[in-house]
Amino acid sequence: MKEKLFHEKGKTIAEATEKDLFYVLTDIVNEQIIPVWENTKKIYKNKKLKQMYYLSIEYLIGRLIKSNLSNCGMLTATNEALKNLGFDPEKVYAEEDDAGLGNGGLGRLAAGFLDTLASLHYPGHGFGIRYRFGLFDQRIIQGNQVELPDDWLNEPYPWEVRKEEEAVTIQFRGTVHMFRRGDGSLEFKYEHTDKVLAVPYDIPIVGYGNEVVNTLRLWSAEPYYDIGDSVTLAHSKFLHYLDHHHDIEQISGFLYPDDSSFEGKVLRLKQQYFLVSATIQNIIQDYKKHYRMPIRKLPKKVVIQINDTHPSLAIPEMMRILMDEEGLGWDEAWDLTTRIFAYTNHTIMSEALEKWPIDLFKQLLPRIYMIVEEINERFCKGLWLDHPELRDKIPEMAIISYGQIHMARLAIVGSFSVNGVAEIHTEILKKQVMKHFYTISKEKFNNKTNGITHRRWLLQANPRLATLITEIIGNKWKMQPKQLIGLLRYSGDQEILDRFDHVKHENKKALARFIFDQTGIVVDDRSIFDVHIKRIHEYKRQLLNIFHIIYLYNELKENPNLDLTPRTFIFAGKAAPNYHLAKEVIKLINTVASIVNNDGRIRGKLKVIFLENYNVSLAEKIIPAADVSEQISTASKEASGTGNMKLMMNGAVTIGTMDGANIEIHDLVGNENMFIFGLTADEVLNYYKNGGYNARDIYNTDERVRDVLEQLNSGEFGEHVIEFKDIYYNILYHNDPYFVLKDFEPYLEAHEHVEQAYRNRYQWLKMSVTNIAHSGKFSSDQTIQKYVNVIWKIHRL
Ligand SMILES: *Cc1c(COP(=O)(O)O)cnc(C)c1O
Repeated sequence: MKEKLFHEKGKTIAEATEKDLFYVLTDIVNEQIIPVWENTKKIYKNKKLKQMYYLSIEYLIGRLIKSNLSNCGMLTATNEALKNLGFDPEKVYAEEDDAGLGNGGLGRLAAGFLDTLASLHYPGHGFGIRYRFGLFDQRIIQGNQVELPDDWLNEPYPWEVRKEEEAVTIQFRGTVHMFRRGDGSLEFKYEHTDKVLAVPYDIPIVGYGNEVVNTLRLWSAEPYYDIGDSVTLAHSKFLHYLDHHHDIEQISGFLYPDDSSFEGKVLRLKQQYFLVSATIQNIIQDYKKHYRMPIRKLPKKVVIQINDTHPSLAIPEMMRILMDEEGLGWDEAWDLTTRIFAYTNHTIMSEALEKWPIDLFKQLLPRIYMIVEEINERFCKGLWLDHPELRDKIPEMAIISYGQIHMARLAIVGSFSVNGVAEIHTEILKKQVMKHFYTISKEKFNNKTNGITHRRWLLQANPRLATLITEIIGNKWKMQPKQLIGLLRYSGDQEILDRFDHVKHENKKALARFIFDQTGIVVDDRSIFDVHIKRIHEYKRQLLNIFHIIYLYNELKENPNLDLTPRTFIFAGKAAPNYHLAKEVIKLINTVASIVNNDGRIRGKLKVIFLENYNVSLAEKIIPAADVSEQISTASKEASGTGNMKLMMNGAVTIGTMDGANIEIHDLVGNENMFIFGLTADEVLNYYKNGGYNARDIYNTDERVRDVLEQLNSGEFGEHVIEFKDIYYNILYHNDPYFVLKDFEPYLEAHEHVEQAYRNRYQWLKMSVTNIAHSGKFSSDQTIQKYVNVIWKIHRL
């Protein structure tokens, strides 16, 4: 480090800043990584291994410095070295900007999968977009969310490598001409298209201690500039370039900040086609260049996973290239395509399902539209002929229907595999949302419960706990996470439980310091740290949590001597900038916080903290310190959840509904080790279908509910009486669409059980350790092995 610092920056250690050391370190790490990266590519080529390509419009990567150091076996030594040089390693690592190219769980899943693929020696790579601006930075100003641009590329990003020479051209708009060749086959030519250059930036994905480095390739949009054969033509093109380069760069300009909701913006469709066209061209070029096999063998060497429907235009794009560029006929192209693609569904919520208006789609992507139309024609004809019993269902199954293109239907029809992300979610797909598709192609449907990379979320984020676990059960859990089950033997051993308690308390002290630095609020590190961190969404029900807090506050005001274990409620999460109700919830949490935290009468028994700008790095700080994990979505709405898994792995006990992967956590740890409450998915779906729920009945009969709601409406919280009227109206006049009031009483009871359990220290620690012990099941190592065996059929390097 000293040597590099001197040669590259001309500085001595005494003169160096943390940023200097960060960049010096990344140079040193890159010197390790790059030869291995080149070597990995060479081996893939020589062995002609089948490759899996993961297509995702989002990658929520977070920082890479620690995981790269850790995976290269250099983290411990680097920590020591930095300390010896008089630096705080954490401060040096914090110089890296989070790569926040994702909204939440979906993007984090994609990043975690790549990490596991490399660590398990699998030939699997990611393709995505190099957004110039990632998910906005969130600031809280007077209780309100304010969004600032995330300028993560303001300073050089040390992990990316620009590969200009591998740029490809993307074509939008224009006209399509059809010709008949001598042999009677059809030929398609495009004219007057808008051309855009897709320039790849590669990020190395480093396996854990195994000499494997895979690639995440992110595409950046740049103007296509053809020198042409005459100077005047070139000059006019140059002027055109000046006029339009801004529009073009916009394509990879920013990430849409909507989580679990669909925005039908043209720019978003451009982004989607930009990603898939660049990627599919790249995959086919590589296959031809490195494998030198006939195109009809493509499915033997290539499998493509599409992460939700955003990249599902890869299916017609593959058809286009196979037919228009490789000269295959429809039937052969379709046969190959449908053996290459597999689709992961992430949500059943109708507001999230992508549907593009035909007019917009056809103008932007004329040739792709023709292909989608043909896929639809043939699919509907097949339904009509082969499934007469489904004839009246064709409008709800057709890819093009009532003026719109239904992306999930396209993805199902064009894939050989369709998977949901937790058992209950897959069952709902099969029985309800996609039941007709399930009827005609049962073999496509399968479940792959999401997972998290335990090396980031335990080994790296919680070194105290990781060290303790290794002292108790040895090292093997790092590559075989199910070994964590070995901890179960010690869940009654008080001496060991004391050590777990000590680790948690140290982590809580560290988080308490961070909270103080961020907010100036002192929290009691002996209080229960109750954590609700995720995107702000009605279905995730932060509102239920804050209603419970208001209720506790009311109780304490009435009886300040109430025997209540002190509690610190910690929230973090971003709201989509246009999601009014979600932003009102943020404001409400902050308003309640400022009242509760400053009311001397309750003697500090309750604290409410909202930490701004939830991202991967903040999650890594909060999760190791959590006692209680809030996973309280309206049942049936949270497809899987992964925050639930991270918190469990770090010894938090879950209070949650029977939803998503909470059910699978419950299967493992049972009622004794988590707090389940509320409506089931069947009950919720039944209410939606048949009615029978009346929120006002609960308001009328439950005084606690009435008090809380009337406080919202009275001006007690906030400067204006009308401050929270929209929340109030949504519950009482829109009949509480997410069943907050319905689940309120059961939630209160569950919280009383939490509080009782926490009072018995060894009982609580046993619950905590039992959760850690079972969490290996949710390592993405497990998840990826299932994708490999059932869907991808790829082999280890
Ligand atoms: C894990 C994670 C999520 C997903 O959390 P859920 O509780 O499953 O919604 C979202 N954002 C970040 C930064 C994460 O690390």
